[in-house]
Amino acid sequence: SKQAVTVLGLGAMGSALAGTLLAAGHPTTVWNRSPGKAHPLVERGAVRAGSAGEAIAASRLVLVCLLDYRSVHEVLDAGTMSGKVLVNLTNGTPAQARELAGWAAEHDADYLDGGIMAVPPMIGGPGAFLLYSGSRAAFDTYREPLDALGESRYLGADPGLAPLHDIALLTGMYGMFIGVLQAFALVRGEGGEVKAFAPMLGRWLTAMSGFTERSADQVDKGDYTIGVVSNLAMQAAGFGNLLAAAADQGVSAELMTPLRALMDRRVADGHGAEDITGVIELLKVSGKER
Ligand code: NDP
Repeated sequence: SKQAVTVLGLGAMGSALAGTLLAAGHPTTVWNRSPGKAHPLVERGAVRAGSAGEAIAASRLVLVCLLDYRSVHEVLDAGTMSGKVLVNLTNGTPAQARELAGWAAEHDADYLDGGIMAVPPMIGGPGAFLLYSGSRAAFDTYREPLDALGESRYLGADPGLAPLHDIALLTGMYGMFIGVLQAFALVRGEGGEVKAFAPMLGRWLTAMSGFTERSADQVDKGDYTIGVVSNLAMQAAGFGNLLAAAADQGVSAELMTPLRALMDRRVADGHGAEDITGVIELLKVSGKER
């Protein structure tokens, strides 16, 4: 028979996780602060726990997917964690994950941190992947229910690894959002239809996605001259046009100006012949060595 699972938190994501586990045949106990959100899952066969404490008691495997770590601490304090395997899928920082792992150890529970690289409708589908770090034993023991949620990737014993990679991936995504928003604002500023423009932007972003691999090699080697096809001095000159065009359209360039300042500083420092990747050298904050 399939392993029993408890899911704490039935927001958009927690409900998708619980629904997918039910569909995969796992006996699933659910709890949510606002009890109404359990209804659709109970109709599909989930067991509703009367309290968070009851929910924690119901299964050895306890999945938590709440708004933030503050709510996680509030909810977990209501139960007895001894002997449990806590899989925390709540978004947070590496430091928060390490702190919670320490808390779990003090309460005699195993800890696995998870980062969900999917939106709720993708859970259980081929496009979803989830990052895990912390207890390898927990990951191996519960591989089946974890794999039901999406492709599982274990990154290492340090619980901070999954949130580090999760946050880095989200950072890349928000960089893309910045570009898309600014591009749409420019087209709209000229009275253009954004819907007609969007496929062109999608095509261009796909064509440029190779930047991730090329620049990774430069960063790892600390050599921003490797394979340069578009030198920074040229890019800095062109980037000025992005800001000037925005001003002409009555569009704010505030999402873009920080990058311009960094590009110009790097050129002024004598790195104009290198790739734009060298800007990363200006992002080092003092006091923390690699
Ligand atoms: P929702 O806003 O839909 O749900 C938030 C959940 O947190 C609800 O169950 C809410 O309970 C609960 N909650 C908030 N504060 C408390 C508290 N103090 N005590 C108890 N419960 C509390 O968010 P999602 O489900 O979308 O997100 C949950 C987690 O999943 C987040 O960490 C998010 O970053 C992560 N995630 C979400 C993705 C998404 O696209 N949705 C993608 C990847 C990760 P109540 O119903 O009572 O308000």
